[in-house]
Amino acid sequence: MEFNTSFLKHASSIIAPSGYEKEVVDVWCKEMSQYVDEINLTNIGNAVAVKYGCGNIRKKIMITAHADEIGIIVTYIDNDGYLYFDEIGGIDTNILPGRTVLIKGVDNRIIKGVIGVKPIHLQKDPGSKQSLNPEDLWIDICVGNKDSALELVEVGSIGTLESVAYQQSTKMIGKAMDNRCSLSAMISIAQILAEKKCIDDIYYVATTQEELRGRGAQTAAFAINPDLCIVLDVTHATDYPGMSPVRDGNINLGKGVVVAIGPNMDNEITKKVVSLAKNLNINYQIEVFARPTGTDANVIQISRDGIRTLLLSIPCRYMHSPVETIDIEDLKSCCTLITELIENRHYL
Ligand SMILES: [Zn+2]
Repeated sequence: MEFNTSFLKHASSIIAPSGYEKEVVDVWCKEMSQYVDEINLTNIGNAVAVKYGCGNIRKKIMITAHADEIGIIVTYIDNDGYLYFDEIGGIDTNILPGRTVLIKGVDNRIIKGVIGVKPIHLQKDPGSKQSLNPEDLWIDICVGNKDSALELVEVGSIGTLESVAYQQSTKMIGKAMDNRCSLSAMISIAQILAEKKCIDDIYYVATTQEELRGRGAQTAAFAINPDLCIVLDVTHATDYPGMSPVRDGNINLGKGVVVAIGPNMDNEITKKVVSLAKNLNINYQIEVFARPTGTDANVIQISRDGIRTLLLSIPCRYMHSPVETIDIEDLKSCCTLITELIENRHYL
């Protein structure tokens, strides 16, 4: 299959951390509207795109991918016009100094700043291992005072690290591949299934606030109450120096979609998915989670009286950094597996 990467490149560039997803959700809805019967936005900002099936008795199949990303929020502006901030979602503060940030400022104008860094010459103990906190850092937008800063940004403005997505062979590198790559996979899945006669209703959901423990997904699962939910997210690739298969698992870029196994996933349907991938020669990898996963699958599975949940993941190197790296071939195997699963109702 062909995979159109233009949505992913664009979506990666959008500044949309948890709680501020609307811009990326709107772009996704515009793409999805070609392939579904209706789209609704919910109070927490989820988008629910529904394609009704042609069966008389239909199941509800929900597919989710979170739209949010990690980011920063301005908490204080000092008299010299420096911005202080807190982190939205799980950020490694040590990777921040010396990076540029893009802030959605006053009137949504994009303001560029640098996260200040003390030169090594001036550090008291440059050899010591850094363990920074957000309050040790500041954003410099190159204004001389607070009034000038307030013309551009305000307390509560949000931003993300600057990063321009690019493609190198089959790899895509950039920020927010977690989880805009799954949003792009959903568009391809919807496009393929729009041409097929599916029995069941499909609810494609772009969820909000996953990075804050699945808050959007929790409400979506309750409202839709599906017979099956397929969660799409990224997972940690382990194919780079310093990783051990025993300790960290064995997940490789380009070796296929990752099927999650463990108590957070429905065992019976997961087995069916694995044998489907085997039978159709679709590349797949297995990842074991002994505990609840850190994905939307966690809250979805325990919504209402329990929802049968699958978790399929795209391997990603350097998660929660501006250089998240994924492989388009893995997106393709994910799309093939899901479209086969739904078209031929292998979950029954
Ligand atoms: Zn994610």
